[in-house]
Amino acid sequence: MKCDVRTLEESLAGLDRQHLRRRLSTVEAFPEKDNRVEVIVDGRRLLDFCSNDYLGLARHPRIASAMSEAAAQYGAGSGASHLITGHGIEHARLEEELAAYTGRESALLFSTGYMANLAVVTSLAGRGDLVLLDRLDHASLIDAAQLSGARFKRYAHNDTDAVSHVLSQETSERTTLIVTDGVFSMDGDIAPLPALASISRERKAWLIVDDAHGLGVLGHSGRGSLEHFGLSADDVPVLIGTFGKAFGSFGAFVAGSARLIEWLIQKARPYIYTTALPQPVAAATREALRLAQAEPWRRERVLELTSRFRKAALELELPLTASETPIQPLIVGSVEVALQAQNTLAKAGFRVSAIRPPTVPAGSARLRITLSAAHTETQVDSLLDVLSRIRNALPPVA
Ligand code: PMP
Repeated sequence: MKCDVRTLEESLAGLDRQHLRRRLSTVEAFPEKDNRVEVIVDGRRLLDFCSNDYLGLARHPRIASAMSEAAAQYGAGSGASHLITGHGIEHARLEEELAAYTGRESALLFSTGYMANLAVVTSLAGRGDLVLLDRLDHASLIDAAQLSGARFKRYAHNDTDAVSHVLSQETSERTTLIVTDGVFSMDGDIAPLPALASISRERKAWLIVDDAHGLGVLGHSGRGSLEHFGLSADDVPVLIGTFGKAFGSFGAFVAGSARLIEWLIQKARPYIYTTALPQPVAAATREALRLAQAEPWRRERVLELTSRFRKAALELELPLTASETPIQPLIVGSVEVALQAQNTLAKAGFRVSAIRPPTVPAGSARLRITLSAAHTETQVDSLLDVLSRIRNALPPVA
C-alpha cells in the first residue's frame, strides 16, 4: 500500500480496520536454562511454537561460550567491510568449513539471508535477463529480482510445467535464473528440485536454491533439501543458507564454484558495502555447525515430533498443509479467525503466530506452527489439546 507521509495516521488506521497491523511483542526472559521453548512475553509464560530454532540450538551453552570467548578475543565489532579490514580468521575458517559441509569449492558469508539473496540475484542477472521465481518464494528473493532490473516472472507454486512453458517461449541467449526456496517458509513444503534441476540443465539456466529452512533438518546427514533429493553441486550450482534458523545463530552464506564466489566478491553490493558480520557471530556459527553434525539426534527428534504432531492433527482434521518439515501451518483463511486463534492459544499458554497477507496470499492467513528438537512430547500433546478445543473455529480440511 502506498501512502503519503502526511496521512500516515490514516494509513495505519486502515491497517487496523483490515486487521493487518503488525505488533511487536517483547520476549522479556527465558525462564528455562539452555532452551528458548519457554518464553516470558508481557509477563506471561508461554510455550513457543513459532520460532525457527528447529534443532534447539539457539541457547546452547557451547554456542554461547564460543560467542563470548571470541568476543573477548576479537571484540564485538568487525571494524569495516570484509574487503577493507573486517575479514577475520573466524570468517575465513567458517567459510572453509561451509565449503566442505556443502561439498562445494567455496562459500561466502553474508550478514543476513536477506542480503545473501539480494547479492546473488543482482550479481547474476541484470537488464535484459530473465528471473523465474516460485510464487511463494521468500520476500527477499522477490525484492532481489525487482532490484536486479531483469524481467521477472512468478510461476504458480511448484509448477514445473509452468517453468518449462515460460522457457519454451524464450528465444534469447540472455542469462536465465530459476530461483526457489528449498523449503517454503510459510508452507513447509519442499520444492521439486530434481525437475527444476533437469529443466535448468536443458535450458542452460542457473538454478538458485535458498535452503534457509532445509539446511540442518532435511537429508540423512542434515545437509538440506539437496541431500533430501540426492542432488549435487552440478545440479544446483548456487546454494544459499542461513544461520538464524536450524543453526541457532545469525547470518548467512552462499556456496558454489570458486568462480561464482569470486564474482560475488567483485560485484555483490550487499557484500561490498556493509560492515562484516562480527567475528563472535562467526565463531558461534562454527560451533553450531559442529554440534548439528555431531548430534544427529536433534534432527531425528524434531522430525519425530513433526510426525507426532501431524498424525494427531490429521486425526483431529485440522487444516494442515502437505508439509513433512517442522513447519506445520494450519491454513485458517480469514485474518480475523487467525488472530482470534492466536489470542486463544496465548491465553492457554502457547505462542503461535498468525501469519497474514501480504506475507501470505490473500485469503490464506494461517497459524504457522513450528516444531523444535527442544520441545517435549508432552508439550506437543498439550498444544494439540488446545487446538482440538478450538477446532470448531477453524475451517474444514481442504
Ligand atoms: N530466505 C528464507 C526462505 C527465509 O525464510 C528467510 C527468513 N525468514 C530469509 C531468507 C532471510 O534470512 P535472514 O533472516 O537471515 O535475513
